[in-house]
Amino acid sequence: MRAKPKNTEYPLFWKKDDFFIKIFCSIPSIATGILVGTSKTSIVVDPGDGILRDLNKEIGPDAILKISDIFISHGHHDHLGGIWSLLTYLSVMRRRDELHIHYPKGCSEIKSIHKAFNEVYRKDLSYKIVMHTISDENPFSRNGVKVLPFKVVHKEQKEAKKSTSVPSLGFKFVYKKKSICYGGDTSYCDSLVNNVKNSDLAIIEAGAEGTESSDMHLSIDDAVKIGKLAKQFFLVHIPK
Ligand SMILES: [Zn+2]
Repeated sequence: MRAKPKNTEYPLFWKKDDFFIKIFCSIPSIATGILVGTSKTSIVVDPGDGILRDLNKEIGPDAILKISDIFISHGHHDHLGGIWSLLTYLSVMRRRDELHIHYPKGCSEIKSIHKAFNEVYRKDLSYKIVMHTISDENPFSRNGVKVLPFKVVHKEQKEAKKSTSVPSLGFKFVYKKKSICYGGDTSYCDSLVNNVKNSDLAIIEAGAEGTESSDMHLSIDDAVKIGKLAKQFFLVHIPK
């Protein structure tokens, strides 16, 4: 039996000065949902199932309309399953501003969702969706919040086949010299370790089923080891 780590009840919240992150949920195979921002900027990360409900409860309709960007770490359903309802809601509420969706190159799931969404709603969509593929060479900035993507290693096993790599990114968010590192779903890799180092907050997945890290997820022990390289850390994505 694995010992249950402390500080894993959702929502998890961290704030320094005007910079915050709220993790509504992060349960493997169920849902993830994260909001990062400042008083001027709202960025959604990994809009899993329930994200619209959680945003509505947390920030309300007016602030939901002001979300500028959505970042997707990878295409697994527990990281983007709620995006359809969020995109639809924005049109129901007659959003006018462009919405930017950033996703790893090769992420077929979000491309398919976007295509299907366009087919259904193109005629009366009130706003424009701008799609951006990103890699570790594409730093991004919105109102002073920098987003630095980095590649992580996350594989999946399709029945009776060898495991294959999923296009996956982690993100380092930097605002006024404070930094938050979110690893997404990842096994042990140098890019994660390097980006966690000296971050003010690290959010590390500990999704491995057993006591060992796999090529898909980290064990709690490895996640803690990496998390300790940051000033503070949260463990997320622990199987329930
Ligand atoms: Zn995943």
